Amino acid sequence: MATPKLVLIPGSLVTTSGTYRVMHSTGHLGDAECVLLKDTVLPRCGKDGCQVTFTLVTPHVSEDPDFKDA
Ligand SMILES: [Zn+2]
Repeated sequence: MATPKLVLIPGSLVTTSGTYRVMHSTGHLGDAECVLLKDTVLPRCGKDGCQVTFTLVTPHVSEDPDFKDA
């Protein structure tokens, strides 16, 4: 399944629950992965001048149409 890359920035709403790779523009922190849930407002980095981007790595199982409610 080819999914277009979803990249989100602080202040925007998470549209797809899943695992995201977090990257800091200034590199003061290494890349990390975190789970973000739909409708969460993305936080910004507390470090001055640092832009964070959140890139979707793996959608949450609830976003996968192959799975149905039990
Ligand atoms: Zn940062």
